[in-house]
Amino acid sequence: MCDKMKAVAVTSEKKIEIIEINKPAIKPNQVLVKIKACALCTYEQRVYTGVKKFPLPFIGGHEIAGEIVQAGSNVDVSIYKPGTRVAARILYKCGVCYYCHRGKENLCVDINKQLINEPGIYGIGGLGQYVALDTTQIWILPEDISFEKAALTEPLACIVNSVWQGNPQLGDDVVIIGGGIMGMLHLLCLKLQGTRIIMSEPDEKRRNLALELGCDYVIDPFKTDPVKEVKELTDGRGADVVFNTTSISSVAEQAVQMTGYLGRCVMYSSQYPDVPIKISTNWLHNSEAVITGAVSPSIRSFDAAVNLLSKNIINPEKLISAVFDYTEAAQAFEAAIRPDTYRVIIKF
Ligand SMILES: [Zn+2]
Ligand SMILES: [Zn+2]
Repeated sequence: MCDKMKAVAVTSEKKIEIIEINKPAIKPNQVLVKIKACALCTYEQRVYTGVKKFPLPFIGGHEIAGEIVQAGSNVDVSIYKPGTRVAARILYKCGVCYYCHRGKENLCVDINKQLINEPGIYGIGGLGQYVALDTTQIWILPEDISFEKAALTEPLACIVNSVWQGNPQLGDDVVIIGGGIMGMLHLLCLKLQGTRIIMSEPDEKRRNLALELGCDYVIDPFKTDPVKEVKELTDGRGADVVFNTTSISSVAEQAVQMTGYLGRCVMYSSQYPDVPIKISTNWLHNSEAVITGAVSPSIRSFDAAVNLLSKNIINPEKLISAVFDYTEAAQAFEAAIRPDTYRVIIKF
C-alpha cells in the first residue's frame, strides 16, 4: 500500500483543487524532499488561465525549496541528512543528448519530461508535499535562508543564464524591457555588473520599485517612444545590451530596434502569441549585433543563483508579494495572475 500526499492541481480552466496522489517512492540514488515553499511561475499561471493548453489535472511547480526527509540506500546521509535545507533544479536532464553533452542541459531534448509518475496526472510536480530527486538535482542551503527566498533560486538562475547570454561589460548601457519579477531580477543581477540600467515599463508603481532597487533611468513606453529615448540616452547609438522580458511581439521588435551596433539583444521571455517580427538584414550586417535568447537555468547558472542568495549578495525579498498555505492555493493563483504582484509563494 502506498502512502498518499496532497498536491495543488489545475483541474480545469481557472479551477484549483487540492488532490490526493501517491507519495513518490525514492530510488537508491535519490532523496525524498518535503516541499516547504513553491513559487508560482508564469508557466503555471498560463495553464491556470488557459493561455497555455496542457492536459489536466496539471500539477505544476518548479521553483521549489524544501527539506530532506529520507535518503535512498546509495545516498551518503552524512551529507544529505534528514532536515537539510535544499533548493532543487527539478527540470529533467537526460545527460546523453547533443545539448547535455555540450553542457547546455537547459536545452535538453527531454527537458519537459514529467516527473509525476501517476496515470492521468500531468506536470512537473513541485506543487505537491513531496518530490523524489536525484542528489545531482539538489543544492544544500545554509540554515538561515528562508524557504520563501530559497524558492526564488530557480527564477534567479534563469536570469543568471540570461545575463550571461547578454554578456554586459563594465560601463555598458543596458536596457531591461518590462518591470515584472523577471525584469526586477535582471535589475538586481545587472546592478552587480557595473552597468547603467535603463528600464522601460508602463506601470508607475513598478517603475518606482525599479528606481528603489537601483535602476538608473526609467521610461514610460506609453508616454514616450522607448526606442527614441534609448537612442537619445546613448548618443544616438542604441544600447549595448537589451533584455526583453515581455511576451509581446511588437515589444520584441522594439528591443531589436533599441540595440546598438556591436550590441546584444536577449529575448528572455517566450511570446504569447508568437508573432514573427521584422529585422533588417542590412542592419544586422552593418551592426555586427547579436540577437539571441535565454531559456531555463543551466546547472552552472543554478549554482550561481544558489551562491547569490545564500551569501546574501542578492536579496529578492521585495519581490515576494504574498505567501499562502497550500490549502489556500486557489487564492494564491488569483493573487499571482494580478498585474500588481511579483512572486506569490505557496507553503506546504
Ligand atoms: Zn519558472
Ligand atoms: Zn539531454
